[in-house]
Amino acid sequence: MAAKRTIRSIPQDRTPVREQPPAERATNFTEVNLGYDETEATREALRCLFCADQPCVRGCPVSIDIPGFIRKISDQDYHGAYDTIARTNLLPAVCGRVCPQESQCEGVCTVGESLEPVAIGRLERFVGDLAIAGDWARRPYIAPTAYRVGIVGSGPAGMACAADLAKAGCQVTVFEALHLPGGVLRYGIPDFRLPGEVIDAEIANLEKLGVSFECNTVVGRLFTIEQMIDELGFDAVFIGTGAGYPTMLGIPGDSLGGVLSANELLTRANLMQARDFPAHDTPIPLGRQVAVVGAGNTAMDAMRVCLRLGAEQVHCIYRRSRAEAPARVEEVHHAEQEGIEFHWLTNPVAILDDGAGAVRAMRCVRMELGEPDDSGRRRPVPVPGSEFEFPCDQVVFAIGTNANPIIGQTSRLTLNRWGYLEVDADLATSIAGVYAGGDIVTGAATVIEAMGAGRTAAAGIARYLGIRDIFRPYADPDDSVFGIAAHESSFVRVREAVTAG
Ligand code: FAD
Ligand code: SF4
Repeated sequence: MAAKRTIRSIPQDRTPVREQPPAERATNFTEVNLGYDETEATREALRCLFCADQPCVRGCPVSIDIPGFIRKISDQDYHGAYDTIARTNLLPAVCGRVCPQESQCEGVCTVGESLEPVAIGRLERFVGDLAIAGDWARRPYIAPTAYRVGIVGSGPAGMACAADLAKAGCQVTVFEALHLPGGVLRYGIPDFRLPGEVIDAEIANLEKLGVSFECNTVVGRLFTIEQMIDELGFDAVFIGTGAGYPTMLGIPGDSLGGVLSANELLTRANLMQARDFPAHDTPIPLGRQVAVVGAGNTAMDAMRVCLRLGAEQVHCIYRRSRAEAPARVEEVHHAEQEGIEFHWLTNPVAILDDGAGAVRAMRCVRMELGEPDDSGRRRPVPVPGSEFEFPCDQVVFAIGTNANPIIGQTSRLTLNRWGYLEVDADLATSIAGVYAGGDIVTGAATVIEAMGAGRTAAAGIARYLGIRDIFRPYADPDDSVFGIAAHESSFVRVREAVTAG
């Protein structure tokens, strides 16, 4: 039996990850973080103490069996590690790259009390990438139920809901307004953080489960939610339309030429491939001195895209301090390394005209931190008499988003006062058979939370449809029925399991 690991016996330093050098990567869109190879992953796996109380599992919004998958990496059973993660997380290659681990699993890792925490996200990505390269995703035998489910929106919430319901035997169609599926993963997060091939692979896995995608389909315009149930023959509907409607600051000058939202900028650069000019001729306004207002992940992505598109200097304007910046720590660090200039405790109050309808500068005011507000963060308050002009020729707002409004405007669904869909604990909306989850319910949140909501709603839909056993595919892996592993069996009848791949 292997000796019990202790904080003194494990490798003391976190295994570094290889990255493209900052000066080189600031000019291209290929991935910054190159991920662990096998030697690095097995070394980092040696740092896990396999804590009996598993704080990291409690820190994960979908309760991945983290010590379980790390133990399998230690044993070099990578396929087993993938199966362990896949019981709760559909998208390890995505979540390993974009989850804010520092405030989730890694933030509560026991090793982190004395040393740097175990690099759980990097290990998850290592396993997720191997699974994509080896085509390991399970395609269990599925006994069809004849139920048809329509999913509106193809982001992580819709993808997770679609996967679970397809595995439960439903005929699942995902309707997506844009011309490619993936939601924010596709149109928001740039390739240098999450390459398009990773999303393509996850979508392909869904297609192998029998999920069909209908893109260029704006539900609420072509047909309504009510029509999906009453006329198009769907037995249930899941709405995962996200919160992609940009917020502007509402200050003088915010309709000048050269002012735009980060979502528009990112959609043009990523989804519409403006970054590949002239191969793709999508226009994208780009100044030489770009000011991006906000300090969340969206702001970091927008700034780093502008830099790669050729802006001379990109500035981050944020009214609080670095400690309150909502972006992942790694993104702020990468942005700093690449030469983004940060202006903390600075708030724009007006955008100034150059006389020809374009941006000349912003008028800003210095801020200081006061008492904590409802979010628990210290409230920024203006310093009297501290106004100054900040020269720039483009302003990008990355200060948050609102619910995508079309579904709310075209259906009888009950909304809350901010325009998000109201749901109960099962994520059922006010219309029978219609469920919702992800950002359209919670407001802008995270990929893993949206995915978790998609799975919760799938379980609710299965109960609504009278499908008994939605959790069966995710039961204890050692569980078996007549010798057939639980995750291979279908909920309707027990048949010989047939797996492909
Ligand atoms: P979305 O991903 O928004 O998907 C909704 C989909 O529904 C979209 O494709 C939309 O086109 C479609 N849709 C909308 N209306 C209709 C309609 N009427 N008919 C048909 N389709 C419709 N989270 C992290 O965890 N880590 C990160 O690093 C991170 N970075 C981010 C960077 C950016 C730029 C942004 C914008 C967000 C980021 N997030 C990050 C947040 C995360 O991406 C979201 O919380 C998550 O994608 C929400 O998933 P969702 O499925 O609810 O919605
Ligand atoms: Fe391993 Fe950290 Fe989880 Fe403990 S808390 S089991 S050390 S990853």
